[in-house]
Amino acid sequence: MTDHTCVRCGAVTPPHDVVSVASPDGGFRLLCSRCFNTEMAHLADVGAFEHPEFTPVRLPDSDGLEHEFHFRSLLFGDQLSLEAFELTSGDEDRAGFRFQLLGDPQSDPFELLGNLVQKVKRALAVRHLVEHAGNLEVAGTTVRGRIEWDSRENGRLPCLVIDGKRVDWTDFGAMLMAFEGWQFRIELVDPSDEA
Ligand SMILES: [Zn+2]
Repeated sequence: MTDHTCVRCGAVTPPHDVVSVASPDGGFRLLCSRCFNTEMAHLADVGAFEHPEFTPVRLPDSDGLEHEFHFRSLLFGDQLSLEAFELTSGDEDRAGFRFQLLGDPQSDPFELLGNLVQKVKRALAVRHLVEHAGNLEVAGTTVRGRIEWDSRENGRLPCLVIDGKRVDWTDFGAMLMAFEGWQFRIELVDPSDEA
């Protein structure tokens, strides 16, 4: 993935910190998150908004394996979105853990960060899939994950990200065959809510 140049401030910005903004002329402008927030604060009349920037943190999962989380904060009118995500590349483009919280833009951003880190820690403490004889199996009777675009399926079928790892839809189906005859319940949860 290549870096982009923010059209407003000229900063060379990594792809995960770039926002594509629609222009009145029908085109798109690429802005860094700081410039996006500056413009949004102006448009939404959020006075004295300070763009928060957080350095990455490393947090261990239930196996003691460390995950490096980067943060991005975006102002959406009257809400500040804070995301924590792992950087991934290539085929695993959409894999990795990813979390979001929404908060009041006028409140202390470090409080929001603290709450998000707690959310990440709660999620990392639980493992939904276990490896058994080289195959992944459902560890308990609940699976939490994220629905992502699968470019190999051209969007026809999703791929899932469970425990931060990409799982093909058909592989997930194979895992479910261990529960043949069981019932299931699917609940779809907004990214900023707790799954
Ligand atoms: Zn910029």
